[in-house]
Amino acid sequence: MSGGLQYERLQDQLLRLRLVQSVERLPSLLEAAAKRELSYSDFLEELLSAELTGKQDRNTAMRIRMAHFPFEKTLESFDFKFQPSLDPKIVRELATSRYIANAENVLLLGPPGVGKTHLAVALGMSACAAGYRTLFTSAAAMVALLTRAQSENRLEEKLQVLSRSKLLIIDEIGYLPLGPSGANLLFQLIAKRYERGSIILTSNQSLTGWGDVFGDPIIATAILDRLLHHSTMLNVKGESYRLKEKRKAGMFGRPASAPLLSATDD
Ligand code: ADP
Ligand code: MG
Repeated sequence: MSGGLQYERLQDQLLRLRLVQSVERLPSLLEAAAKRELSYSDFLEELLSAELTGKQDRNTAMRIRMAHFPFEKTLESFDFKFQPSLDPKIVRELATSRYIANAENVLLLGPPGVGKTHLAVALGMSACAAGYRTLFTSAAAMVALLTRAQSENRLEEKLQVLSRSKLLIIDEIGYLPLGPSGANLLFQLIAKRYERGSIILTSNQSLTGWGDVFGDPIIATAILDRLLHHSTMLNVKGESYRLKEKRKAGMFGRPASAPLLSATDD
């Protein structure tokens, strides 16, 4: 009877301490403790490590929500055999997130459909799991955000807020020309993060095409100078994974009939 009451008190105390994992684990752990004759310290260790793991998982899930990924994909679902231009060792090293501790950057370049966004998201998910605050945006959305902040006289404030993310993923540089003011704003963002926070950038344009993307070779050079100084560059080649899947479904002819695929390659 008093055991039952004590159990209720324990549950109540765990709840009030917000040790939600322990509330769940308590019954089975008490049973195991009785059966396996766990020592006090073994019992406490099992309870606390379950609590810590649960807490880490919740924090990771929260960071993933705050990152605003367009989809949630990981390296496990990335088929490296389909993508021989990529060295899996380099990608796996990046997935340790060490580059973020060093405020280094990652450039993912290649034609449409080869998995640049998939890889950027997967690295972002790893960063979230490693405890880094992460934010994903497209280049166009980032420029729109900064343009608006500037027109409201809050550009500095916005850049400050963005610098709280230890990893900033800017997807799809090069699909839309940025215009001089957009290029200038991106330059300010990148200059501000230089050696302070990491950027992962994806582009369908090779670096020689960036002068056109930014509408100004001088700005493009200044941006590249900072981005590349401490960086890993991944050139993803090959054909579109999307089209491969369609071709498999019989919607396209043979690979040779798709010259479009290499249109943006270098
Ligand atoms: P990109 O950003 O280079 O245009 P995405 O990353 O959007 O290409 O890839 C297009 C689709 O194909 C996505 O659904 C992605 O998950 C998938 N994909 C691309 N490459 C691979 C790969 N090597 N293994 C598994 N899925 C892939
Ligand atoms: Mg993409």
